Amino acid sequence: AAKRRGEGNFHAFNEQMREDRADRLALEAELRYAIDRDEMEIYYQPQVNTRTRTITGMEALLRWKHPKRGMVPPLTFIRAAEESGLIVSIGEWVLENACREARAMQIQTGRRLTLAVNLSPRQVLSDGLFDTVQRALLKSGLNPRDLELEITENTLMISSAETLSTLARLRELGVRLAVDDFGTGFSSFQYILEYRVDRLKIDRSFITNCATDVNAAAIVRAVVAMAHGLDMTVVAEGVETEEQLAFLLRRRCEEAQGFLFGKPQPIHILYEQMAQLTQESEELQIVPITES
Ligand code: C2E
Ligand code: MG
Ligand code: MG
Ligand code: MG
Repeated sequence: AAKRRGEGNFHAFNEQMREDRADRLALEAELRYAIDRDEMEIYYQPQVNTRTRTITGMEALLRWKHPKRGMVPPLTFIRAAEESGLIVSIGEWVLENACREARAMQIQTGRRLTLAVNLSPRQVLSDGLFDTVQRALLKSGLNPRDLELEITENTLMISSAETLSTLARLRELGVRLAVDDFGTGFSSFQYILEYRVDRLKIDRSFITNCATDVNAAAIVRAVVAMAHGLDMTVVAEGVETEEQLAFLLRRRCEEAQGFLFGKPQPIHILYEQMAQLTQESEELQIVPITES
């Protein structure tokens, strides 16, 4: 019920946004203070291996717990943050905190989990990106190989020679690069090759229909085949059903993310989910032994 109320707030909030420019300015002003006031929280959504269903990593997804407006979803405020330039400092906060929490989780669980963090165009174009990422890694102790930066096709398109060299330097550190929402932007295979992308994340819109619609199925098949041909791995976004998972498994899509495995959630819930999965797999191993 609390969730539904939150969504209600969001729709009302959205309406207001369209009508009221003053409100938009107020939002920006509030956004400026949101981090200092501790109103931002990072949720994490598990990413799983499609064959074993074990959690391989997680994506950091930002939430703004506004004292009056309720839970403001990122699609509303990321854009305001992007347009005002605030995304650069917000993004820095996300990187530092997500790297720290991911490292803590690796230590507590004894597992090598990866962390995916979204970068918006403005962040990628900003001068400080390399230093920001490097600082977050050094402060947290997270291995660069366990960090994946997600950017969209459109971000690659607007990037300059300078961005290319920044991303290349990050890749030299070991940081992985993933293209987010793949298939929805202006794709250029040239950029995918030039930027030495490690992973493609197939957009949810294709995954939603892949088990029921021949066209969506054809696109998913083609994207997976192309990615593998270019030595990239594939993550399916927005997997909600067993049928979709079965389809992806047949197409050799390596990883999946979606409500079937878990929604974005506060870090302590992810800990519980991991403990539960570990217990289940231990129990599964114990059963045949006691029976024989
Ligand atoms: P994204 O990076 O493509 O993230 C995936 C979105 O799909 C998330 O929405 C997630 O909640 C949603 N999703 C995942 N699985 C399912 C599913 O099975 N069904 C459905 N219906 N939805 C699913 P969310 O958290 O609202 O984030 C929206 C977008 O906001 C993100 O899309 C990303 O572009 C942006 N964003 C989120 N956090 C950050 C951040 O820290 N920095 C930046 N720059 N952008 C962010
Ligand atoms: Mg993403
Ligand atoms: Mg996406
Ligand atoms: Mg998206």
